[in-house]
Amino acid sequence: MQAPSLGGVQVPRGNGKTVVRLRHGSSLNDFADKIDANPAALVTVLFHLGEMATATQSLDEDTFGTLAEELGYIIEMVSAEEEDRELLGAFDIDLDAELEAEGDDDLTARPPVVTVMGHVDHGKTKLLDAIRQTDVVAGEAGGITQHIGAYQVHTVHEGIDRAVTFIDTPGHEAFTAMRARGAQVTDIAILVVAADDGVMPQTIEALNHAQAAGVPIVVAVNKVDKEGANPDKIRQQLTEYNLVAEEYGGDTMFVDVSAKQNVGIDQLLEAVLLTADAALDLRANADKDARGVAIEANLDKGRGAVATVLVQSGTLNVGDSIVAGTAYGRVRAMFDEHGEPVLVAGPSRPVQVLGLTSVPRAGDTFIVAPDDRTARQIGEKREAAERAALLAKRRKRISLEDFTQALQQGKVETLNLVLKGDVSGAVEALEDALLKIDVGEEVELRVIHRGVGAITQNDVNLATVDSAIIIGFNVKYAERVEELADREGVDVRFYSVIYQAIDDVEAALKGMLKPEYEEVQLGSAEVREVFRSSKFGNIAGSIVRSGLIRRNTKARVTRGGKVVGDNLTIESLKRFKDDATEVREGFECGIGLGSFNDVEIGDTIETWEMREKPRA
Ligand code: GDP
Repeated sequence: MQAPSLGGVQVPRGNGKTVVRLRHGSSLNDFADKIDANPAALVTVLFHLGEMATATQSLDEDTFGTLAEELGYIIEMVSAEEEDRELLGAFDIDLDAELEAEGDDDLTARPPVVTVMGHVDHGKTKLLDAIRQTDVVAGEAGGITQHIGAYQVHTVHEGIDRAVTFIDTPGHEAFTAMRARGAQVTDIAILVVAADDGVMPQTIEALNHAQAAGVPIVVAVNKVDKEGANPDKIRQQLTEYNLVAEEYGGDTMFVDVSAKQNVGIDQLLEAVLLTADAALDLRANADKDARGVAIEANLDKGRGAVATVLVQSGTLNVGDSIVAGTAYGRVRAMFDEHGEPVLVAGPSRPVQVLGLTSVPRAGDTFIVAPDDRTARQIGEKREAAERAALLAKRRKRISLEDFTQALQQGKVETLNLVLKGDVSGAVEALEDALLKIDVGEEVELRVIHRGVGAITQNDVNLATVDSAIIIGFNVKYAERVEELADREGVDVRFYSVIYQAIDDVEAALKGMLKPEYEEVQLGSAEVREVFRSSKFGNIAGSIVRSGLIRRNTKARVTRGGKVVGDNLTIESLKRFKDDATEVREGFECGIGLGSFNDVEIGDTIETWEMREKPRA
């Protein structure tokens, strides 16, 4: 049905009852896709309705609602999780209803699932090994432990045999990656800090991740056997991060250990169980089809897809039909961490599963389906949905501009930030200044992570999970991270002047941010040689690595990811002896940056242009 619309544009119309389902974060492009319209036409219609938006900007439900009403559609906004819930619903699987229907009688205690995190070289791997060796059961069986991504140990706590499950991939990368995929696996985090080294950047990163996920922390003060170890200093240092030791009147348990000499391991397990019992209600229904998460998986030449799954509730049996993410199949055999065959696996039990037709990803949830056919259909439907979502390419989760909008509509009250800078002094100064912004009662600013160095995959994952905005001060993206940020729609802002960052955040918090200009990358060149010229200043003999270098555009010089010269201009540009207006990727050129003479071999020269940003 075509009918003239506002502004004279042609848009296919609905009949007032046509339902269009859109994922949260969708843009006019996505809507246009669903109703087979031209995105530009929708921009025009929306404009005539008094709202301005670009085709790729993600819009809220109200804006879509207004537009849809005008065009005769009913909008339903859904999240990826809701979509999956519906997909399962079509097969009569309703996990929420299942949980709700479970009464106290159905639930039995399950072991805590623990992740070990901390700074590199502080002894995470060693500690995981030491814990494995204390296991009374493994000791009896004399079994050799294999790495399957997770293991369970037994310990006697207050006279009772208790199990504890450990995720055997140390570090917070795996933790956040799983969280980013919606899987909450960890109940308790052990934060390892070497007593001879103290609190380090990744210590803080790890504790930020755990705190952001609301996971209680037990601190293992490691390497107490070493000369110069100062366990008390660690306790003191960590009070700054809201981890106050019990002996100092706080509620975090600190245990002194030596992973190397096997000292304090039992006490650490004890502390984990005490913390779990005090802070968490770890119970699950074991008497139903298994539900859980894939921890790690790989393709084995002889055995096919091998996946380690953690059962979270229910019981997994050999012969069950399962679907994990898009992978499906029937459980042909199960093995524990000693390589022993297992027939059943209950809550908090990690097992290696054979029989899937493809390899699931870490963090994919799995369920037991009623039969093979259902498992296959769910897997295939998910795959199709994923492909569609990828095509629609999710847009910005939240940007400072969105925040301003959402704030005005009273939809948000917390602005989450991740701060990265070239030196810790700058990060601290920035954080201090940001936290001093006076914005009244309604909004809150929360710095969920801060650190020194380039913007990493981790930062983006964290920002994805907690809808945070990343602020980079005199730093750049680490390799390949820009793509990830782009794909996930995370707003990453770069500054080289602290006040500009503060101004923007303050404006956003006060609901007044006006998008104006944005930096558009034009290209980058690598400096191969530096020629000294008394007339023109230094000339950087360079090769264009991406895009193009154009004369008279803005430029900056970076060295090892750090900005060493900013707000420069490409004042001269030569191809051999001739002046050039622009030089493209793959070609060599001589670049003069005016009075800026601090160019070195190996530097990167980046150019950009300021373009006016469409107003939200
Ligand atoms: P990770 O990077 O955190 O996994 O650290 P590792 O477990 O690989 O340990 C780093 C180094 O510290 C290794 O050389 C270990 O042998 C050593 N180490 C770990 N725990 C202890 C300990 O309790 N005492 C001493 N002296 N050395 C330790």
